[in-house]
Amino acid sequence: MTGSPVWHPFTQHGLQEPVPLVTHADGAALYTADGRRVIDAISSWWVTTHGHCHPRIMEAIRRQAGKLDQLIFAGWTHEPAEAVARGLVEIMPPELTRVFFSDSGSTCVEVALKMALGFWAHEGSGRQRILVMEHSYHGDTIGAMSIGERGVFNAPYEPLLFDVGTIPFPVGDGANTIAALETACRAKPAAFIVEPLVLGAGGMLVYPPEVLAAMAKVCRRHDVLFIADEVMTGWGRTGTLLACEQAGVAPDILCLAKGLTGGSMPLAVTMAREEIFMAHWSTDRAKMFYHSSSYTANPIACAAAAENLAIWREEPVRERIAALGIRQQAMLDRLAALPGVRNTRRCGTIAALDLEVPDGGYLSSLAPRLMAMFRQADVLLRPLGNTIYVMPPYCLDEADHAQVEGAIAEAARTLAG
Ligand SMILES: *Cc1c(COP(=O)(O)O)cnc(C)c1O
Repeated sequence: MTGSPVWHPFTQHGLQEPVPLVTHADGAALYTADGRRVIDAISSWWVTTHGHCHPRIMEAIRRQAGKLDQLIFAGWTHEPAEAVARGLVEIMPPELTRVFFSDSGSTCVEVALKMALGFWAHEGSGRQRILVMEHSYHGDTIGAMSIGERGVFNAPYEPLLFDVGTIPFPVGDGANTIAALETACRAKPAAFIVEPLVLGAGGMLVYPPEVLAAMAKVCRRHDVLFIADEVMTGWGRTGTLLACEQAGVAPDILCLAKGLTGGSMPLAVTMAREEIFMAHWSTDRAKMFYHSSSYTANPIACAAAAENLAIWREEPVRERIAALGIRQQAMLDRLAALPGVRNTRRCGTIAALDLEVPDGGYLSSLAPRLMAMFRQADVLLRPLGNTIYVMPPYCLDEADHAQVEGAIAEAARTLAG
């Protein structure tokens, strides 16, 4: 595709890798202009939950597009946004009573940070510091990068990033994490933000629900706001609607995006407990929540999200997720027997493994080599260094699943070769 003016994200144009042109999609399949059917084994970067072009969501978008396209959301409202907010309050932990809209995972994280600092500012305390977990990813805007793992992908922007307190990733029963969090909390930070159960971009690193529960408890005891970034883990990915559910945790602030619209439209929400909303509630205009973006709660995106919520209420989504999880485990059990395959792990519908190779890492040539092999096999997979993971739409059928497994097995054999 030389000659295109498009500058792609996370793409090294200097390597001249092919950029396939996709014309349409259906379920777990992408169709390219050159006539290929490619299985989307990573849900178009973790967003597509039920499958591409779910008929009910597409119809909801069409219906809304004929009525109201866009509306200023400062002081105005519309039915799709009201329906989404009502639906979320109904389905999410009851402690989360307020819904603030934005348009991406990064922005809902930025909003969460501003809510946390706004809360403490209006409470009259000086709490400002943010605690994060090692290897975390929370997005690519400046604030979201600041609270994420530092590495080659953000080194040039280092001067723009603010300082945070980093808690080590849990080892074994997570005693190392809990002890470090306990110590850090004594210094009265504002909040601790964490990806519950699975650190996605950090390499699909999994830790047990007991550690999540224990971290939330430490924060509660020290009055530190507990922010759950469920942008990736939400909407069934980990086997339950929220990963927090498995730990019996209700966060103070919850970030949702990606699967909120079933993965069809850019929309995000930050949900908060009533105390956080009330800290901003005043007759003093200076205490209002100073945040908005042009497309906050876009009506068409909200219509897609409202339909996604209806699908969760009315279709057997949980059963599909459970069945997919079982097939993912069976796939991992077979792949684990191959030479060079290490650390097979699964959380709900997310399956991951590491390939044994000297010099792994983000800039190694391994990931592009693997991607080329997967492209040959008409499977969309995007390894993280030497980690291969499968995070498919819930509609992935057995034949397509077998094709994905075959592509991974072939790659493992070739590398071990
Ligand atoms: C993808 C992701 C984000 C950022 O979401 P965008 O919509 O890409 O801005 C934030 N947090 C987590 C955990 C993510 O996986």
